[in-house]
Amino acid sequence: MNNFKLSQNKLQEWYVNHGRHDLPWRNTDNMYHIYLSEIMLQQTQVSRVLEEYYPQFLEKYPTLMSLASAPQEDVLSAWSGLGYYSRARNLHKTAIACPESLPKTQEELMKLPGIGRYTASAICSFGHEQNIPVVDTNIARVIKRFFSLLEPKEVTLWSHAKEFVNNNESRHHNLALMDLGSLVCLPKNPLCQECPLEKKCLGKSSPELYTQTKKKEYEFLELFYGVYIKNGKIALQVSTKKMYKDMYVLPSVEPIEEDLIGSFKHAYTKYRLKVNLYRVEEVNEEVIWIDVEKLALSPISSLTKKAEKFFKDL
Ligand code: SF4
Repeated sequence: MNNFKLSQNKLQEWYVNHGRHDLPWRNTDNMYHIYLSEIMLQQTQVSRVLEEYYPQFLEKYPTLMSLASAPQEDVLSAWSGLGYYSRARNLHKTAIACPESLPKTQEELMKLPGIGRYTASAICSFGHEQNIPVVDTNIARVIKRFFSLLEPKEVTLWSHAKEFVNNNESRHHNLALMDLGSLVCLPKNPLCQECPLEKKCLGKSSPELYTQTKKKEYEFLELFYGVYIKNGKIALQVSTKKMYKDMYVLPSVEPIEEDLIGSFKHAYTKYRLKVNLYRVEEVNEEVIWIDVEKLALSPISSLTKKAEKFFKDL
């Protein structure tokens, strides 16, 4: 006897009428395309991935083989501005490890760089239609509320998601839960009256109890970068720091007030930055020279993109 039959059926019905069926990665059986979408969607909104990155990246690298054959520098350029650049490095490493096709099991997928339990299960469920649960942030919120789980461990969340999976329609069930979390079971003020799970939801009387999060703690930093332009080219360095590893960045300098070009604010993960740019005429460390006009084609971060407007007319 399936205790969840009613809720599963209502969820399916809701998905047919309200699900986001037009997303391109939901209308393909190409595992690489599904994998790419899952990596891009980590930490990035659907609209931004859809409009600015997913189609452009696939046009440049339509197959795992084409991605594997590209230099890392080019892959980072295609990822430029999307942030969390380790995603692009890991994607590239995975393509090199499996240029023909991705493995078909969660266990094998999780051995690849940057693929955790969520991504592996998403590929197996959405791509191979395997009968397994998927738990992302949106689904976790629905599961916590539906089963009334206060601060559950990961393993508890996954086991409840498994219990709830509709074995006849697991792919649609997982996609439906994902959409329900992002469209109805919202972090604040969920729309319980419109929810197909309302009848059986154990957390509906106080849904906010399940989404209490710690207050974010920001780290405020002031950064000082040098702008050294010669013959239309700008001096950049290849970063060795973890956050921007292998990306092209402006060199750090000691600030000299009269050489200040401009300042701007920038937010990145937990950091709240004040960035100051200074005109310089030499840099002590090793640099590479990039044509200012072609900067957008290089692997630069959104911070460097923001800085560009201060120096492009110098
Ligand atoms: S009834 Fe409300 S709290 Fe429960 S799953 Fe639906 S939207 Fe979320």
